Amino acid sequence: MRISAKEAAPGLTAAALVGLAALVLSGGRVIYGDPNGDVPLVLPERLGPWVGEAVYFCQNDQCARSFPESSLPEGGAGSMACPVCGGVLSTVSLGENNLLPAQTPIFRKVYSRSGHGSITATVVFSGMERRSIHRPQVCLVSQGNKIMDERTEMFGADGENGGESGGGHPLRILRLAFQVKDPSTGKTVSQTPCVYGYWLFNPEFETVHHLSRFARMLWDNCVRAYRPRWGYASLSAEVDPANPEVWRDDFDDFIGRFYPVITGIRRELASRHGVAMRLSGSSAQANRYRGTNTVTTAAGHD
Ligand SMILES: [Zn+2]
Repeated sequence: MRISAKEAAPGLTAAALVGLAALVLSGGRVIYGDPNGDVPLVLPERLGPWVGEAVYFCQNDQCARSFPESSLPEGGAGSMACPVCGGVLSTVSLGENNLLPAQTPIFRKVYSRSGHGSITATVVFSGMERRSIHRPQVCLVSQGNKIMDERTEMFGADGENGGESGGGHPLRILRLAFQVKDPSTGKTVSQTPCVYGYWLFNPEFETVHHLSRFARMLWDNCVRAYRPRWGYASLSAEVDPANPEVWRDDFDDFIGRFYPVITGIRRELASRHGVAMRLSGSSAQANRYRGTNTVTTAAGHD
């Protein structure tokens, strides 16, 4: 019995889809974009009037305070204990260490400017493991914050680097209350108002919406076999209760100087578009950081 092409088409299509799905699931395919490659990002020591330094986090979940390097006694924070509770200090926050996969590249400096507040700038990159970037709404709460408000706002419109249209750069802004706890009892003794702003980027695309990132990742991965690293840039600052909106001027000034740093690393990562990698079996899921530059990575629990 002969089967015409027309009759066979649905069956062949289904077979092709099953085959394609099997191929994708087995990982037996080539992807592009170098998701395990190095990230040659250096956060500058200075951004205009802003002076950057390392920051350390207490790993005691009843404390979870952070300290700029200059606020700690001399002798290297690596061997030091938290000045408040005696807990272990790390360049990676407790929430990051608990939630991020191993080998997640993290870049961070706290920037101070005389007469102004300070801004902590953090850039986290995903690799093969996409869990490296997750909704900060999860991470921030696990670090003892309460989210009071959330919206998208534009910053840096008036500066030299005021965005392509001069209208500034969008940031997703969260208003937070950090629950300051007594380390011995774990009870909240006060709340510090903070603000947290972030956006997400890959070499070709940037957004403040996690859903847009997922849609883009799905398309790039399935249709283009393109799996570049994604970055997640955030700024955080304490809010002065006496001047609760003054942080906006600081963010406005800072983002115009910080944004070109991110544009630079996006350009570097874009140049890896042609780097091919063969996925095979479960080893394909392993997160690797192949770079040799100095980078902080999460300890990971997997
Ligand atoms: Zn502590």
